[in-house]
Amino acid sequence: MSSNSSASSNSSVADAARRFLNRPRRMLIGGKWVESRTGETLESVDPATGRPLTTIPRGDAADVDRAVRAARAAFESAAWRDVAPLDRGRLLDRLADLIDEHAEELALIEANDNGKPVRVARAVDVGTSAKLFRYFAGWPSKFEGSTVPVSPRGGLKILNYTVHEPVGVVGAIVPWNFPMSMACWKLAPALATGNTVVLKPAEETSLSTLRLAELIQEAGFPDGVVNVVTGTGPDVGAAIAAHPGIDKVAFTGSTEVGRLVARAATGNLKKVSLELGGKSPHIVLPDADPAQVAEAAADAIFFNQGQTCTAGSRLYVHKRIHDDVMAALIERARRIVVGPGTDPGTDMGPLVSARQLARVNDYIASGQGEGGRLATGGGRPDGLGEEHRDGYFLEPTVFVQTDHSMRVVREEIFGPVLVAMEWEDIDDLVEKANDTPYGLSAGVWTRDLTMAHRIAAAIRAGTVWVNCYNLTDPGSPFGGYKESGWGREMGRNALELYSETKSVWVNLS
Ligand code: NAD
Repeated sequence: MSSNSSASSNSSVADAARRFLNRPRRMLIGGKWVESRTGETLESVDPATGRPLTTIPRGDAADVDRAVRAARAAFESAAWRDVAPLDRGRLLDRLADLIDEHAEELALIEANDNGKPVRVARAVDVGTSAKLFRYFAGWPSKFEGSTVPVSPRGGLKILNYTVHEPVGVVGAIVPWNFPMSMACWKLAPALATGNTVVLKPAEETSLSTLRLAELIQEAGFPDGVVNVVTGTGPDVGAAIAAHPGIDKVAFTGSTEVGRLVARAATGNLKKVSLELGGKSPHIVLPDADPAQVAEAAADAIFFNQGQTCTAGSRLYVHKRIHDDVMAALIERARRIVVGPGTDPGTDMGPLVSARQLARVNDYIASGQGEGGRLATGGGRPDGLGEEHRDGYFLEPTVFVQTDHSMRVVREEIFGPVLVAMEWEDIDDLVEKANDTPYGLSAGVWTRDLTMAHRIAAAIRAGTVWVNCYNLTDPGSPFGGYKESGWGREMGRNALELYSETKSVWVNLS
């Protein structure tokens, strides 16, 4: 492509994103783009300026009910039920192609709506979403049952076999930190196994999901197979969790709301899977390279403005290299360019909302009040310009001299705030790493393989990274121990979350 044609294609992508962002949006129910029943709307705000981008429908329980009826009708219709497994896979593959084709536009929508750097949106949010559909596209034709060699009473000759069937109508509720990819984590396995879905994006960041829903229609999924209802958690999310016509709820979000969802689901005992919060220990052994670890530890906490469930938010560095690692890490944190997500030079964007910024600032004040020492950050970055005066920006922040009595060490902050501690005794370290109600992930840096495996075995968490951090793959299970959740997404485990297994007994005697 010549530089002229690439410049004009960039500007047409930017125009497409702008056109999408500038128009009041509707939600998708039964294949139709509709307002909420009440006609009420919510503003979607640009976190880099604090100004509204556009509006989304403020749905409520009646809209959820409409969507559940549409999803049930689609689930029971031959147009979806009778799609052959290979053809279902082809639909998922087609959607992956469309996501790839519209990658720049989707990334720009995400950067505007969520605030994250467009480069991160492109590589992680959009890239992961396409990869997920690509991976799950292979499963419908391979998710086999089995024949079971049973030994029945009375010498009967029996053929016993199992089949996997979809659960039915799935309610999916997702957060704002990786808006589109969190939606796809649910959609891809749910659709691969033949379910229909009522999806609720977070009210702060619904726009990329609404654009994705247009692509789902374009890919050729029958009407009602995917429905998107926008609105607040207490209105739409709670209605999904409690709805008697929903067979399974898949939730990603905070542990606090996860509890509400689990409780609300007891009415019809719908299946529940939960991906919840984390406060992950990031462990550095004395033989690790301080420069490499400082880089990795900074990335593990400041990636996505620290709004990552797996953020390496508790750093434990062995006493012998503690000062070297911390000096390099603090220097690295100070070099991070904070700015609007749409600026290609930005490393870290604003936080998602005024509410989230206030919450994180509150933790920073609490850390200082409890005796932690602010080694860098803690305030608003300088030099952002007049246009961004009301944006939700925060400096990369590092606390040292912290301990397990402090809230900043015990609670999930969900912002760019690292707490660092020194350790000497390995048993004490493992005890501290596990001294948390969460169990989502952990990281270990060492060249000593025996120690790496010993620590990986001792940590109570769903994912352990050794000499790397924050890697995920559609084929590898992901989920939490303890209060970080129920169930595993990704890979074969996800198929099990979204299907029932039937055992069929045939008397051959
Ligand atoms: P949140 O729990 O406030 O909201 C998540 C979703 O739940 C949103 O769509 C929200 O509208 C909805 N909701 C709110 N109240 C509800 C209710 N009463 N009933 C039903 N739904 C309701 O979380 P958040 O602030 O959007 O996201 C941050 C949290 O998500 C963090 O705790 C983070 O660790 C977690 N998270 C976990 C994972 C994971 O895979 N484990 C991934 C991303 C984020």
